Amino acid sequence: MPCKTLEEMDVNSSNMIPLHQTTSRKRLDHKREAICIFGTGDFGRSLGMRLLKSGYQVVFGSRNPQNSTLLPSGAQVCTHADALKESEIIFLAVHRENYDFLSALSNLLDGKVLVDVSNNLKMNQYPESNAQYLSQLVPKAIVVKGFNTVSAWALQSGSLDANSQVFVCGDDNKSKQQVMDVARSLGLTPLDQGSLLAAEELENYPLQLFPMWRLPFIITAGLTVFFFLYCVVIKVIHPYVEKNEDNSYLLMVSIPNKIFPIVSLILLGLVYLPGVIAAFLQLYRGTKYKRFPDWLDKWMLCRKQLGLVAFVYGFLHVFYSLIIPLRYSTYWRNIKYITAQLKKNSTSEMEVVWSWKSDAFYASGILGFSVFCLLGITSLPSVSNVMNWREFRFVQSKLGHVTLLLCTVHTALLGWNKFLILSLYKWGLPPAYLLSMVIPCIVLALKLILITPCVDRMVTRIRQGWERKGKGSSDLNI
Ligand code: NAP
Repeated sequence: MPCKTLEEMDVNSSNMIPLHQTTSRKRLDHKREAICIFGTGDFGRSLGMRLLKSGYQVVFGSRNPQNSTLLPSGAQVCTHADALKESEIIFLAVHRENYDFLSALSNLLDGKVLVDVSNNLKMNQYPESNAQYLSQLVPKAIVVKGFNTVSAWALQSGSLDANSQVFVCGDDNKSKQQVMDVARSLGLTPLDQGSLLAAEELENYPLQLFPMWRLPFIITAGLTVFFFLYCVVIKVIHPYVEKNEDNSYLLMVSIPNKIFPIVSLILLGLVYLPGVIAAFLQLYRGTKYKRFPDWLDKWMLCRKQLGLVAFVYGFLHVFYSLIIPLRYSTYWRNIKYITAQLKKNSTSEMEVVWSWKSDAFYASGILGFSVFCLLGITSLPSVSNVMNWREFRFVQSKLGHVTLLLCTVHTALLGWNKFLILSLYKWGLPPAYLLSMVIPCIVLALKLILITPCVDRMVTRIRQGWERKGKGSSDLNI
C-alpha cells in the first residue's frame, strides 16, 4: 500500500499517492531527507511533529495506516514495509514486547539504521538490553540506541529546558553519526556513549530517581530529625519539666533556626571531609594508584549534592534570621529589658568586647554565606562549563575551605564561652552548636596539616604519579 498524507486520505481515499510520486514533492525538494517512524503512538507522533518542524519529511509505518488519524499534518503513513523503503533511518517507536513483527521485515531492513528509543518499566527487566535484543532479532539492520531519555511531551511542546541531551550508542560509527546529526538538527545535544553495550545503562537511566541524591537526603533527614529532637529536649521539654515553663512556641522559628545552620555546617564539613581522608590515605599508602574504599568513593561522588543541601539549609537560616526582630517574643523581651532598666533608673554601659563579638559574629556569617553562594553558583553546569579545571578547583576547594572556616567561626562566636558554663548543659547535654562544630573542626585541623609545606609537597608529588618505594602496582586505578 502506498504512503499517503492525512490530507490525501481525506480528499480521495481511493487515490493514495506514494511519497516519491506526490505532486507536493516539488515543494519538499528543499527539505531534508525522509525519516521513517514505526509506531504512531505518543512518542512516534511527537517525534514526527518535531522532525517535520525541523524540515524533515516524515513517513510513519503503522499496522493500521487507514486508522492513523492523529498524525501531525504533512506526515505520510503507510504499512511498515512501504514506509521503510522511503528512508535509511527508521525510528522504532514501539514497545519491546511488540518487536516480533520486525522479523518478517528482516530482508527489507538490510543495511538500514534502526533507532531503538525504547524504555522498560523496571531496571534490568530483561537479561539483555532492548537494543541488543533488537540487533539479534534483525541482524541485518544496524541498531543504534538513542532518544529514550527524551520524553514525548518535551518533543511535542518543544520545552527541552529540563534536559536536551540525547544519549546515543551503537556499534557502527557512521550510523551513530547520522542519528546524532538528526538529534542536532532537532535542537538537541547528542552525546556519544560508545558501543551498543552501553544501551543497558541508557535504558536504566530514565528509571533512576535522584540516584546521587539518596545518600545526601538520608544524611540530611537523619541529622534534621536528630537535632530537632535534641533541641526540643533542651529548649522545650527541659524547661517544662524543671521550671514548668511553656516554651512550645520555639518550635516554629527558634528551633528550626537552630537546626538549619547546625545541619548546614555539618553537611559542609561532610563535603570536605572525604577529600582530606583521601589525601591522608594517599600519604599513608604512598601512592595514588590504589583504589579508595567503596564507601569513600561513594561519599566523594555525592559531595556536590551534600553541598547543595547545605546551601539550601544555610539559605533558610538567613531567611529565618531576618525575621527575628519582628517576632513577638523578641519584641517582648526587649521591652521587658528596657522597662527593668527604667524601673531601676539605670543604663548599662556598652561592652566593647560584646560589640566586637556580635559584629564579628554577623560579619563572619555574611561573608561565609556570600562565599557559599559563590560555591553554589559555580556548581551550576552552565557556569562550571566556562571555567577551566584550575579555576573550578580554586573555587570549590580553596574558597570552599574558606567558607567552612568562616561558618565555623560564625558558629563559635555565637556560642562564645557557653561551652564553659556547665549550667547550660541541660540534663548533661552539651549545647547543640557545640556538636555542630565537631566535624568542621576535624576537617579544618586535618586541612591545616595538609597545607603545611612539607606535607603539601608530598601529597602533590603523589598526585603527580610518584610512588613510595616498595609499593606494588598490582591494583592500579589509572
Ligand atoms: P504507545 O503510545 O503505546 O505507542 C506504541 C505504538 O506501537 C502504537 O501506537 C502502535 O502503533 C505500535 N504497536 C503497538 N502494538 C504493536 C504490535 N503488536 N506490533 C507493532 N506495532 C505495535 O507508546 P509510546 O509512548 O509512543 O512509546 C513507544 C516507544 O517509545 C516505547 O518503546 C517507549 O519506551 C519509548 N519512549 C516513549 C517515551 C514517551 O514519553 N512516551 C519516551 C521515551 C521513549 P501503530 O498502531 O501505528 O502500529
